[in-house]
Amino acid sequence: MVEQLPLKQTVAGSSPAGRTKNMFNLIIFGPPGAGKGTQAEIIAQEFNLVHLSSGALLRQELDNGELGAEIKRYQDAGELVPDSLMVTMIEKAIIKGLNKPGFIFDGYPRNLNQAKSLDEFLNKNSLEIALVLNLDLNKDEAVKRIMLRGQTSGRSDDNITTIENRFETYQKETIPILDYYQTRNIVTNINGQLLIPEVTEQIMAVLKKLI
Ligand code: ADP
Repeated sequence: MVEQLPLKQTVAGSSPAGRTKNMFNLIIFGPPGAGKGTQAEIIAQEFNLVHLSSGALLRQELDNGELGAEIKRYQDAGELVPDSLMVTMIEKAIIKGLNKPGFIFDGYPRNLNQAKSLDEFLNKNSLEIALVLNLDLNKDEAVKRIMLRGQTSGRSDDNITTIENRFETYQKETIPILDYYQTRNIVTNINGQLLIPEVTEQIMAVLKKLI
């Protein structure tokens, strides 16, 4: 810890938004159906960042025997999979991408415990979160988008009962994270209600000032 301190102080003092180790790490935040994955993909391409989607990582395991069955139970219930599983999965993915210009976290962290453990892990690697993009949109629009996506996504959690539970989980467990990052002044609100290119445009305007 002590030996990391001088590095962080130097870097944080000399670069915008606390960039460390020349990496730029951000979180794309918002309710289910906000378009986090769509926007994260575009941003990742533009800036050569690693797109780390917790939902996608979990879905890759769905065919994996007992673990897959367990993940599916949580997803179909609209509940968070246990932190122990999620944290390990994300840390492995971070380690794989450490040689890249940065990470965009999509769907992670999703509760306060995940947020704190992510900070700790990044810190150990002399990294930090520089920005949280908060995609703001109302529930009606979000539900409409998920139902539309459900026609082609093949995702068993894109149905109206699970969606209601996903929103409840978001309100109870995920929203509190915003306060946690707001105290650090790194949250930027984006109007997520608009069309995809319009949302992208707002995000690019923010990022071009920082990256
Ligand atoms: P959406 O953002 O539309 O809800 P995701 O693909 O991000 O879709 O998540 C789908 C499901 O995967 C969640 O409802 C939850 O069960 C699980 N999940 C995704 N990310 C996390 C996470 N960080 N922690 C725990 N569970 C998660």
